[in-house]
Amino acid sequence: MNFVARKRRILVDTGFTEYEMGLYSNDLQMYTTPPEIKITLREFEEQALERVKVYRIIEQTSAKGITKLSEEWRKAILDEIKAQGLKTFVKVFTGTGLGKTEADYEGRRRDHITHFICRLTYSRTEELRRWFMTQEMDLFRLRWHYLSSEGRQAFLKSNNLSYTSISEEEMSRLLTLSNGLVDSTKEYYKVPFTEVFDLISRRRIFLHKGFGYITSQDIISVIATQFRSFMSKQMMLCSNLYSRIIEDERLKAILGNLNTVYTGKNYTVGSGNAHEIDIKQLGTIARRAFPPCMLSLYSTLTNQNHLKHFGRLQLILFLKGIGVKMEDALYLYRSEFTKKMEPDKFDKEHSYNIRHSYGKEGKRTNYTPYACMKVINLNGGGAGETHGCPFKTFEANQLNKFLADNISNPEPGEVREIIDLAKNKHYQICCTKYFQTKNPGVKLNSIIEHPNQYFELSYSDRNSTSKTEDKKSVASS
Ligand code: SF4
Repeated sequence: MNFVARKRRILVDTGFTEYEMGLYSNDLQMYTTPPEIKITLREFEEQALERVKVYRIIEQTSAKGITKLSEEWRKAILDEIKAQGLKTFVKVFTGTGLGKTEADYEGRRRDHITHFICRLTYSRTEELRRWFMTQEMDLFRLRWHYLSSEGRQAFLKSNNLSYTSISEEEMSRLLTLSNGLVDSTKEYYKVPFTEVFDLISRRRIFLHKGFGYITSQDIISVIATQFRSFMSKQMMLCSNLYSRIIEDERLKAILGNLNTVYTGKNYTVGSGNAHEIDIKQLGTIARRAFPPCMLSLYSTLTNQNHLKHFGRLQLILFLKGIGVKMEDALYLYRSEFTKKMEPDKFDKEHSYNIRHSYGKEGKRTNYTPYACMKVINLNGGGAGETHGCPFKTFEANQLNKFLADNISNPEPGEVREIIDLAKNKHYQICCTKYFQTKNPGVKLNSIIEHPNQYFELSYSDRNSTSKTEDKKSVASS
C-alpha cells in the first residue's frame, strides 16, 4: 500500500487527506498518534494558549464547588468556553462523535494539535503533569457525555477497547448471585476489577471472581482509567523529549512559558485599572485589601526594613499596578530601608531599580505586575526570602498563624479548608477561599488569578460587610 500517497490524497469536499479523515473520524480521541503538520510558530502559540484557557476554565469551574460532571458543571464550563470565544472547542467538545463536515474535522485537528503541544509543555515536572492530567481527565469525561451511542461504539472500536456486554445466560447467573444488586433491565459489561477501582470506591459495581459487572453508563470509568494509564506513560516519554525540543530557543520561549501565561485582565499601568492611592494610608489599605503574597511582602518591608531582590520586584510592580506613584514608591522603600542603611547606599543600590521598574530608566519598559502563576512559580521561601505565594511557600504553622492573624471570627472549618487546599497545592483556590472569607459581600465569577485582581475586588468592597479587621500581622506604615 502506498501509505504516503494515501496520507497526501486530499478529499475535495473537506480539504483533509484520507489519512487525516481516518485519524479525525471521531470527536473524542485517545491521542495515540502525534500530529504531522506544518504550523507557524504564531499558530502554535495561539492555539496552545486556547487550550490552556480551556484547562483553566475547567479548574476554575470545579473550584467553585459545583459537583464535577454534573449538568451544572458541564453547562458552566461550556458557557465560559463560549464566552471566551473558543467556539471551535465548543463544537468538538460537545460533538456526538461522527460528524463529517469540514468544521468537524477542523475542530478535531485543532484538538489534536493543541493536546500534544500542552502535553509537551506540562510534561516537565511532576506538579505540572498532575495538573495537566486532572484537566484532561475531566475534559475526557465531559466529552464522553455528549457522544451518541454510535459515537461511543465507534470510539471503543477504533481504540481497540473490546468491552462487550454479557450473555443472557451469564446475566441470569448474575441476578441470582448479586442478591438484587444487579438490575435486570440494564445492559452489563464484564471487566477485570483492576480497571474499575474508581467504581469500587463509589460502590457502583457488583464484583465476582476478579471481575466487575458494570452498566453501560459506567463504562466511562473503565475507559477513563485506560486513558489515564496511557497518558501517564506518554507524559514520562514527553518529559524526556522536552529537553531536546527546547534546544530550539523559539520553542523554548513558548513551551517554557505556556503554563504560566496570564490570560485574564490586563493590569499593566495605563490600562485604566489604577486607583488614587494615598501613600500615608498604605498600611491600612494593605491590611484591608492586599492579597496574602503582597501583604506578606509589605509586612516584611515595614517590620524588617528590608526586602530581598525578588521580593522588592514583586511588590513594586504590584504597587505600580494598583496606582502607587513612583515618587511614593521611592519614598516608601527609602523610608523603610534607611532605618537600617545609609541613605547614600540606598540611593546608589536601590533607587535606580525602582525607577527602572516604573519604566523611567534603561529601556523604559512598562513592566507588567506579576500574575498568580508567575508568583507561584517564583519559588520563594528560601532563607530570608518572602517573595512567591504564601500558600505555597509558608510552612503549615506559619500559614496557620497568618490565617489566625488575618481572618477574624472564621466560620467553623473555614481555616481548615484553606490549609487542606494549600497542602493539596491548590494555591489559587486557597486564595479564593481566603478572599471569600474576608470579603463575604463580593461575588466572585472566577478564581483569583492575579494579585491586582484580588486588590481591585477587595479595595472596591470598602462599603461591604467585610470581615477584614486591622490585625497585628502588619505594622502600620
Ligand atoms: S494565589 Fe495569587 S494573589 Fe493569592 S497569594 Fe498566591 S500569588 Fe498572591
